[in-house]
This record gives sequence, structure tokens and C-alpha cells, in this order.
Amino acid sequence: MRKPRLMTPGPAMVPEDVLLELARPVIHHRSAEAKDVIVEVTAGLKEVFCTKNDVMILTSSGTGAMEATAVNTVPPGGKALVLNAGYFAARWASICKAYGINAVTLDTEWGQPVDPDAVANALRQNPDTACVMGTLSETSTGTGHPVEAIGRVVADSPAVFAVDGISGVGAMECRTDEWGIDLLCVGSQKALMLPPGLAFVAVSPKAWEKIDAFNAHSFYFNLKAARKKAADFDTPYTPAHTLILALRAALRRLREEGMEAVWERHRRMSEACQAGVVALGLELFSSRPAEGLTAFRVPAGMKDSDIRNKLAERFGITTVGGQDKLKGKIVRIGHMGYTDEMDVIGTLAALEMTLAELGRDVEPGRAVTAAQQVLIGARSAAGVG
Ligand SMILES: *Cc1c(COP(=O)(O)O)cnc(C)c1O
Repeated sequence: MRKPRLMTPGPAMVPEDVLLELARPVIHHRSAEAKDVIVEVTAGLKEVFCTKNDVMILTSSGTGAMEATAVNTVPPGGKALVLNAGYFAARWASICKAYGINAVTLDTEWGQPVDPDAVANALRQNPDTACVMGTLSETSTGTGHPVEAIGRVVADSPAVFAVDGISGVGAMECRTDEWGIDLLCVGSQKALMLPPGLAFVAVSPKAWEKIDAFNAHSFYFNLKAARKKAADFDTPYTPAHTLILALRAALRRLREEGMEAVWERHRRMSEACQAGVVALGLELFSSRPAEGLTAFRVPAGMKDSDIRNKLAERFGITTVGGQDKLKGKIVRIGHMGYTDEMDVIGTLAALEMTLAELGRDVEPGRAVTAAQQVLIGARSAAGVG
């Protein structure tokens, strides 16, 4: 018997009380009950996103939120500045291309954080930029970007700041309003502890001005249509209502834990995972690791698929490899959402055994000890018994 553990950066594990919501009879989406649910989840999402801005609920995967953002804020022929530092950031450019938006890319080496000064420079060179498109947590490289500092730069310009927070929100500190994020894109299946199928966009007044200035070339992903219905806690088309019921349960969990505590738990899990990986002589891929996942380089002479297959087949632990140019080069361990310290310790123990069984010279217990030291230290520093 193996207990499945989805240690991936999305989809990620879903708590049982949230899963049970999915087994309830389908309710009608125009009923009073459905409206009550949307009232509650709208308030919950605002709390989790740290925003007073409007939050639109879309039925799509996270990419739908990115597409809605691009097509509604930049008219065809308009300019976007894409902070291109990984596979998901590059998706912004692909979406722009699909809609005839002129995407200027500011390229950053994969695994490195975007430099806010470089963003300021790029905006000086491209003063007609309508939207700066960045990422909170670049899932393909395991990098957290300095969104707060970039937000300050963008706030000084006429451009709006769109952030892909799909794997970041709920795992890393993200203060939408304080940090000047005009469009925050989030998906359900990562740190929000839900299955895939819902996406969210938080839209600032500065963003609405851009959106109101033209008619977006999209019927389904039309934010003006979404705003009109959201005013009455409704959606323009049939939403994935079953998932919205599950969202209510997931948001109740997050609100009960409190966002500061949620971020702190992810910080601890991420520090522990990094310490464990480093203790095994492995090299972290990112110079500024995100807090919802840990990426390490595949050691010379080993194959990522050997490591990941053994983790899965022997221990039930699912991890992911690299994407695009990182294929075969890195392994990524997710620790976001419904994940706790013991999941991280268990994964590190399995990683030690996996590497040892694959013939690498590792001393079992090293990674676990390093992680435990971080976790014990974090608790005594916080004054918790
Ligand atoms: C997962 C992810 C996406 C893509 O989301 P989908 O839900 O697969 O459409 C985009 N950006 C980031 C940073 C992600 O982690």
C-alpha cells in the first residue's frame, strides 16, 4: 500500500471537507442559496488576496484569468511589457500574440528574480506601455519575484500592473492593494486547495479605467460583463458552481488559519525543504526561491525520471520535472496549500532513500535532520512550545 501524496506545484492536495462539498447535489446557479455562496466567497477571496478591489470569478483554469487580463486591458496594437523569466511568464507573451498585442519582453535568466530597476528602465524606453505583465511565483523555476518593488515602479507610470499569482497566492505573502497590483490572476488548483476549474481576477480602479476605454475582443472572457453581474453577486454564464461551494469550504479554512499564519507555514515548509535538499548535496535551482515549491538540479549522472519514478512508485509521492528548456534538468517539489511540515519531512525522507537506492552516496537522515532543525528553530524563535 502507498498513500498518495501530491507534492506538486498544482494541482495540489485538497482537504477532505473541501472534497466532500463536491459530492453534494448540484444547486441552481440563480438561486438565493447560490447568491449567498457568492457573497461569502467574494468576501473571502478579498481577504485572501488582501484587496478591496473587485474580484471576478471565472470558470476556467488559471490561464483564463491571464487571458481575460490581457484581452481586456490592452487593445489590439497596444503595448504590453512582459517580465519574461520562465515558462509561465512566457505565456503572457503568447497570449498577447494571440490577440495582436505588441508584447515587449524584458528577459531575465531562468531561476533569477526580475530586477525592478530593469523594469523602470524598460518603462522609460516604452512609455506607451499599457500593461506590465509579471509573475509572483514562477512555477517553472521555483522563483519568487519581488512583486512589491516592481509594483512601486509600475505605480509611477500610466501602465497597469498585472500579476500571475496562480501558484503564489495562498503560498506567499501577496498584498494586492498595498503592492500596487492592478490585476491579480489566481487559479483554484494550487495553494487555494481546490481542484482545477476556477480562476479569479482582482481588478483595481486604475485597471477598470483601461478596461472601460475600449471594447475587448472577447465574448466569454469579458471583464465588463463579469463586473455587471458581480455587482449583484452573479456571473454572466453558468459558473462551476459545485467548485464554488468547495471554494467556500477552502476559504473558511484559510480565514480560520489567518493569512499571516498561512504565509508563515509556507515559509517554514519552504525553508525546511531547501535545507533538506542542500543537506543532500543537491543544488537549488533558484537564487530567490518561491515559497510554494522547491526546485533542485538533477545531479550529474542521474536522470530526473529515475528519481521521480521511484518517489512515485515506491513512496506514492508525485513530484514534477522541468518544463521546456529545463526538461530533465530539475526536479520540483510542491509544498503549497493543504500541505504540512510532516508532508515535507516525509518527502525528504523518501528522497534520501530514493537517491541511496539509485546508488548515490547519501547518508539517510541528513535531509530530515536539516529540515527538523529548521522547523524546531522556527518554532522556538516564534515562542511556541
Ligand atoms: C499553473 C500555473 C499557470 C497555468 O495555470 P492553468 O491553471 O494550468 O491554466 C500559470 N502560471 C503559473 C505561475 C502557474 O503556476
